[in-house]
Amino acid sequence: MEKITTLFCPECGEEVANVPPRVWLTGTPRPEHSHLDGEPLCAVMTEEGYRPAKPINCRPNLD
Ligand SMILES: [Zn+2]
Repeated sequence: MEKITTLFCPECGEEVANVPPRVWLTGTPRPEHSHLDGEPLCAVMTEEGYRPAKPINCRPNLD
């Protein structure tokens, strides 16, 4: 049986869908992942400004 890797948003801990966000208007490359509701992953500050977080493959510890 093939193991399906579940991805999570590192900022909010929600599961991540393997589809681009439904709405993406900021003029930057469209990310490959989104929240299950179609929203981009939570924004994090990077060298280039706020960008959607990169998904991680284990549930983050958010306490
Ligand atoms: Zn999130």
